[in-house]
Amino acid sequence: MDRNQNRLFRWFWLLNGDDTGATLVLFPILLTIILGLLALGINVGLTYIIDAKLATAVDAAAFAGVQALPVSPSDAEAYAYEYAAKNGIPAENVEVEISDDNSEIKVIATKDVDYFLAGLFGISPGLVRKEARASVKITTTNDAAPWGVLPEDFDKGEEYVLKEGGEPIYDGDGDPIKDSDNNPVLDETPLAEDWFGALLFPGNEEDCMYRGAIRFGYQGQLIKASRYSESGPYTGILSVGDVVKIRPGLMARTEQGVKDPWDTDWSHTGVNLAIGACNHTPPCTADNYVEDCLRVIIVPIVEMISDDEVRIVGFGRFFLEEFDELHHRAWGTYLGGY
Ligand SMILES: [Zn+2]
Repeated sequence: MDRNQNRLFRWFWLLNGDDTGATLVLFPILLTIILGLLALGINVGLTYIIDAKLATAVDAAAFAGVQALPVSPSDAEAYAYEYAAKNGIPAENVEVEISDDNSEIKVIATKDVDYFLAGLFGISPGLVRKEARASVKITTTNDAAPWGVLPEDFDKGEEYVLKEGGEPIYDGDGDPIKDSDNNPVLDETPLAEDWFGALLFPGNEEDCMYRGAIRFGYQGQLIKASRYSESGPYTGILSVGDVVKIRPGLMARTEQGVKDPWDTDWSHTGVNLAIGACNHTPPCTADNYVEDCLRVIIVPIVEMISDDEVRIVGFGRFFLEEFDELHHRAWGTYLGGY
């Protein structure tokens, strides 16, 4: 009989015997066991509560942060800290990581747990750690029309202005006043200072390439390459989050010397070329179209970030309906996101 068995035997003996000393001997042991169980219960509960609190906080923080991605990683970070704090986890307990391509946010929250009666049982303080991730799909196209529309709640099947124009000015007889190129003179209503929604894609500085991008979508310098046998460094690929220069002005007419009818209005001829390129039978409509028809265009949805730059926040697919000559506006029916 080893020592432990011997001790166990003695306890039983004491319990069975009518010796009040047993109570004295047993009391500290039982108290320890009871306290131990109590501490275990409390500590499990405590850990569970902290765990749940951290989980709620990191979920809320990641969800709030991802709303700003991929456009603004700094906002994403700020939102994450803000929502962690709103859920009771201060910044010093929170770590936010954003992926290099700004598509994913990871929020980690940690908290030390001082266990109940930890000292008594020799348990060291614990650390509860929770993390949550949220990501956005980065959308890319190599087929964008050279226009930017501002974000709104686009409804499928509704028509939208894809390139702004303005209201004509009428003469005393109620006829629109025309300029020397026979274009109506507009009471201009730009989206921003001298900006009517045209974008200047890299490598597409020439006006004819703006027109080409309406017809074919932005192809980098492909349009130029086909005409001049030049190749350039531009891929034509645009992604959500990209910053693009605006192309100021109405794009309505050339400055000097109209060479041919195509050059009188870049937007108008671009739209007409795209619409005219539909050779499907029956002709495509917004309700019934062939997916790769040139009338189906991808338009960047943008927000202005400076006087002459916008950032792409998404892409919309539109069916190119018409160019309204009088107002110099291009219209398209929203087909859905891209
Ligand atoms: Zn078609």
